[in-house]
Amino acid sequence: MAVPDIALSKRELIVNLSAIKTSVVALALAVTLSGCSVNPVTGEKQLSLIGESQELAMGAEQYVPTQQTQGGRFYVDPELTLYVSEVGQKMAEVSDRPDLPYEFVVLNSSVPNAWALPGGKIAINRGLLTELEDEAQLASVLGHEIVHAAARHSVQRMQQGMLISAGVAGLGFALSDNEWAGLIMGGAALGAQLALSQYSQGDELESDHYGILYMKEAGYDPQAAVELQELFLKLSEGRQSSFIDGLFATHPPSAKRVQENRELVKKVGAGGYRGEDVYKRKMAKLRSLQPAYDAHDKAMELASKGEMKAALDKVNEAIRLLPREAMFYALRGRIYQDQKEAEKAAADFEKAVELYPEMFKYRLYNGLNALRLNNLDKARENLTKANETVPTSIAFLRLGDVAVKQNNRNEAIAYYSKAAEAGGDVAEEAKRKLAALTQ
Ligand SMILES: [Zn+2]
Repeated sequence: MAVPDIALSKRELIVNLSAIKTSVVALALAVTLSGCSVNPVTGEKQLSLIGESQELAMGAEQYVPTQQTQGGRFYVDPELTLYVSEVGQKMAEVSDRPDLPYEFVVLNSSVPNAWALPGGKIAINRGLLTELEDEAQLASVLGHEIVHAAARHSVQRMQQGMLISAGVAGLGFALSDNEWAGLIMGGAALGAQLALSQYSQGDELESDHYGILYMKEAGYDPQAAVELQELFLKLSEGRQSSFIDGLFATHPPSAKRVQENRELVKKVGAGGYRGEDVYKRKMAKLRSLQPAYDAHDKAMELASKGEMKAALDKVNEAIRLLPREAMFYALRGRIYQDQKEAEKAAADFEKAVELYPEMFKYRLYNGLNALRLNNLDKARENLTKANETVPTSIAFLRLGDVAVKQNNRNEAIAYYSKAAEAGGDVAEEAKRKLAALTQ
């Protein structure tokens, strides 16, 4: 069976997740067994297999790749990321680990979610920002993530081999944020897994608890945290679908969380800064652009149902409303590709790369499509660039194909060997081609 360029099977995903588990175990074994240490937030004794330098390195190395597998930077409004960073740094300063190299970024995804990598590398999606009403609510989300990082929750779960997948949705026509999930290789796969895995109720309660204390300390009204939890619990009971794949999957809400947060706020005292006006002002641009993102999301939904004509109309509407959003051209390119209009697709992928050159998936689309048009140098350049940020088995496989066409046998063997390390159909195809070359 030929490997499709875009659609992935669930099997591939599972194979690759087990590869990640193996790498986590290998990582845990590779580090010195330093035994017990004291949790920097709670003061409790805990197992410490992964030292602080590894913790910091993991976050620093995987921050950009993980941003990219979760939608990429929301580059059309850099002011918004500046604002979120300011609020985040205010909370980080009063945390139990103020010296971590914290960073905050807004991601270009409609899925309401936020995540933290080890070492304080934090992200919030624009799809969650639009659900919030004021700065205190934003501070509560960021404070919660700060605790996950400061208390080393991900690191603890990695040590215990307990990274539980929160489920990766949308692998049909794969028009989702996680379409490449099963094909990502190496450390970038671990980063994506950390961003998408579920925290235990114990970790959630701990993050809420210290997050509320940090809010109080930073001068925010901690009641905002309770309000958000109440809202999330209500939404989760109504099972609003976009939330199920996002925040609720990774940070599951519960009545117990609401109850404990209420009691804690009663104890420390409600009241403090809300920042409703400033939040409204900082969010004005995103809110005004929302119709463009809604049109894009609708187009994605139509395309995943195979209604390509209607999808094309919708994505054209999005482009009319916001012509400098790379994501829209990438989607239109994929729709053209589906309709066998490779030349039109090429123009759109080129535009997406021009608008956001660092983004691996726009490079990947551009490279795969160039190969289809037999534009070998362009394919090679783009696939190589894609792999520099987020390595994927499909890019290695197709770089092997380019090398074969350009009569670079040794290079082809190297690329196919790399692709063969992954799982699923991509690896099978790579192994077949490798066997044919080395006969
Ligand atoms: Zn959480």
